[in-house]
Amino acid sequence: MDIMEKDAKYVAGTYGRFPVVIERGKGSVAYDADGKRYIDLEAGYGTNSFGFCDDEWLAAVTAQLGRVQHTSNLYYTSPCAELAELLSEKTGLAKTFFTNSGGEANECALKCARKYGTTVKGPDCYTIVTMKDSFHGRSFGAVTATGVEHYHDSFGPMVPGFVYTELNDCEGLREVVKANNVAAIMLEFVQGEGGVNVVAPEYVDTIRELAEENDILVIADEVQAGNGRTGKLYSYMHYDIEPDIVTTAKGLGSGLPIGACMFNAKTQSVLVPGDHGSTYGGNPVACAGALSVIGRIDDAFLAEVNKKAAYIKGELMGAENVAELTGLGLMIGIVPEKGSAADIVNECLKNGVLCITAGGNKVRLLPPLNIPDDLLAEATAVVKAAFAAQK
Ligand SMILES: *Cc1c(COP(=O)(O)O)cnc(C)c1O
Repeated sequence: MDIMEKDAKYVAGTYGRFPVVIERGKGSVAYDADGKRYIDLEAGYGTNSFGFCDDEWLAAVTAQLGRVQHTSNLYYTSPCAELAELLSEKTGLAKTFFTNSGGEANECALKCARKYGTTVKGPDCYTIVTMKDSFHGRSFGAVTATGVEHYHDSFGPMVPGFVYTELNDCEGLREVVKANNVAAIMLEFVQGEGGVNVVAPEYVDTIRELAEENDILVIADEVQAGNGRTGKLYSYMHYDIEPDIVTTAKGLGSGLPIGACMFNAKTQSVLVPGDHGSTYGGNPVACAGALSVIGRIDDAFLAEVNKKAAYIKGELMGAENVAELTGLGLMIGIVPEKGSAADIVNECLKNGVLCITAGGNKVRLLPPLNIPDDLLAEATAVVKAAFAAQK
């Protein structure tokens, strides 16, 4: 039986896959089982920050694998402590709880917000406000936080105490905060799955004002937009706000499962021993890989990310059949004038470029942050041609 048949027969059918078996990769290039070459503008939903099997990351990970691959959280390990310190130095946040995924990082944030609201502000202060078209994960809390009905369908009842509002609707947010006893407002500063939608600065100002007036926690979901993806280390850093809780995952591990829930001075001591945990959280191999990733995302590196982003935008702005570009940095949404984003993605795949769709009929690009300029030019030309080919 070939791989695709075997997968269809034995792997639970929760994914729609492209008919490609990725066999190996190096940097921004992948090869399928037939030896066909693909330039990767998807990077595992923006996970492989430094592409496939990056040398420095591989060395850090394999060295740690040969020392200690795992211990329980009853003991200390160095990569976990070092990574928490590095994240704190780079963000000014106080402490980190490590997880294995973005959804799990968001669960930690939601639990922290509920405990803060109900213990500091009163037993009825538990409502969490999230945005329509958001995406926060698949576990019950995270999927309830996700403001898209389709993800809730047939799994009800959802977790109580969530209210949804339209992104960038300042008046709508004021009304929701007035009508509910709100513990936290949670948002992606650039929505990924929902359509690479960028939050407006005035909206962030409104969030900040409401949060200050009402002691509401601000949770930034940086699972997709974090770790250099938007041209800043975290996407909230484009705005005038300091979130109380920042969650991240995807690009943090550059391909190994790790997530993080970071707390500021106000939230760092809310969760105490016994409140929360994760068996694999802070795994030394995943943390060693993340150290090699975060350690390299400095101002010079981010300037390169922004240069690559400007190149793609320059090529696609006004290109045939391109109606609109959205996003920040190397998190890019492209709206076709005609044709479906899914057809364009399939055309790219046929021509050796991996990319994906996002909500609102958009093609989404999330290339490795260090994609070489020549590969970027080659792949961008393929994307441009795929847009032009739509009838
Ligand atoms: C992918 C994603 C998640 C969920 O992360 P998992 O690692 O799949 O649990 C949460 N929030 C955002 C913004 C995401 O893009």
